[in-house]
Amino acid sequence: MSVYGAPVIGLHGNWLGIVVVMHDITELVHLEEVRKDFVANVSHELRTPVTSIKGFTETLLDGAMNEPEVLKDFLEIIQKESDRLHLLIDDLLELSGMEREGFSLQYAFINVKEVMDDALKITSGNFERKGISLVLEIQGDLIIEADADRLIQVMVNLLSNAINYSKEQTKVIISGTKSGSNVAIDVTDEGIGIEQSQLPRLFERFYRVDRARSRDSGGTGLGLAIVKHLIEAHGGTIDVESTIGVGTTFRIQLPIRKKI
Ligand code: ADP
Repeated sequence: MSVYGAPVIGLHGNWLGIVVVMHDITELVHLEEVRKDFVANVSHELRTPVTSIKGFTETLLDGAMNEPEVLKDFLEIIQKESDRLHLLIDDLLELSGMEREGFSLQYAFINVKEVMDDALKITSGNFERKGISLVLEIQGDLIIEADADRLIQVMVNLLSNAINYSKEQTKVIISGTKSGSNVAIDVTDEGIGIEQSQLPRLFERFYRVDRARSRDSGGTGLGLAIVKHLIEAHGGTIDVESTIGVGTTFRIQLPIRKKI
């Protein structure tokens, strides 16, 4: 709470009283903390690959490059870390673009099944690599007013996570059903699951249940924050349910007709 006070003096210099203005700044303080956390996280996330690239390059220049085996190994690490940096910068630019005023969706009437097919084409290599099978249960012709490219992006994110956090030879189910004036799209996996206590923070930027595992799988920790942004920009919602060792379901609800 911030408090300001000022005396009120009448026309003839007589004392009339005091005006007190009180501002509840709890929300402002919270926003400032979120901003500071974000800057600290970005710095940390950027510094990690840069430090690694710098270290390996220096070691190579100090003589390690004369051993062909070492040279190849180190160059591969440098390439992997550069790719990671690239991905992180892309995701950060994407998020800041979405948060900027003027961000808009390209609405059109789209078929949910076609969006799923496009997202599956993009992720098919990863499904095959882990031998994960896919079950697609989309009700009839679900036509909604939405931005197709953005929904494909949402689905690719959710499917990539479902694959990354599942063991080989498991199953992912995508279902799409109409419910009132919304469509509900569920992505269910048979993966490692998430503790109940972690669920409320899952959509925060850079929040990861297991940092090392996410990093190994190439995650930036920004995927679900981007997904939530895109769904909410459509006037929809996203929720998650999970049981450790059983699996996770992400449920998206989208209005069938564009909300004005
Ligand atoms: P990341 O790039 O780390 O995957 P996300 O924002 O996409 O970042 O996800 C945040 C965290 O949520 C992940 O690090 C992971 O711990 C957890 N997570 C997301 N999807 C799943 C899933 N399907 N199963 C288990 N954990 C998940």
